[in-house]
Amino acid sequence: MARAESRPDAESGYDARPFVPPGADLSALRAAAADCHGCPLHRAATQTVFGRGSADARVVLVGEQPGDQEDRRGEPFVGPAGRVLDEALEQVGIDPGQTYVTNAVKHFKFEHRAERGKRRIHKPPTLREMGACRPWLDAELAVLDPEVIVALGATAGKALLGSGFRVTEQRGRPMPFAAPVVGGDPAGTETAWEGVLVATIHPSAVLRADDREAVRAGLVDDLRVAAEALD
Ligand code: SF4
Repeated sequence: MARAESRPDAESGYDARPFVPPGADLSALRAAAADCHGCPLHRAATQTVFGRGSADARVVLVGEQPGDQEDRRGEPFVGPAGRVLDEALEQVGIDPGQTYVTNAVKHFKFEHRAERGKRRIHKPPTLREMGACRPWLDAELAVLDPEVIVALGATAGKALLGSGFRVTEQRGRPMPFAAPVVGGDPAGTETAWEGVLVATIHPSAVLRADDREAVRAGLVDDLRVAAEALD
């Protein structure tokens, strides 16, 4: 598996690119990501949580980062938020089994709260950490070649569209999106994938909301836009 010689410095450089094997398929990407030291987040997390789902997926759903359960189990969207997402997908006619789910950042970032029995509390990744991890997402998109990607929540939107992204303003409408070639020209003019991006809230927002049904309905409406973009 090809790796750049700069690998030992990659963590301080906040860059996953030295760990992304060129031309790799999904399983080789997953295996390589297990050993990524592209930023400091791998130190405290249990394991890399790479994407999972159909290699023929027409829809790729991108969340923020693994949660506590995902970190322990090594798979994305296996907790309650994943169930909310699957139900919403089914409501708009997208078979969850035919999708691919992944995260903008592949390691769980958290802090310990002593007052909660040292429970691990999710901490949002920084833009720097998102930028470090982005090559894995670009590599996934290049291999999967989906028709539509869905950004789930503000962090995923920022990771994909930049720090100016606002989920409240940009959710629920198709936007053109291009993923650069990993390790391509520095100006990022070479694209590995081009298609449609639809942004919405993270499904965990439904679980936190006082008015769950209204928030769930908003998620479903946005996913319906993604389903229509497939047509
Ligand atoms: S968060 Fe991403 S870039 Fe950082 S170590 Fe994990 S896989 Fe590598």
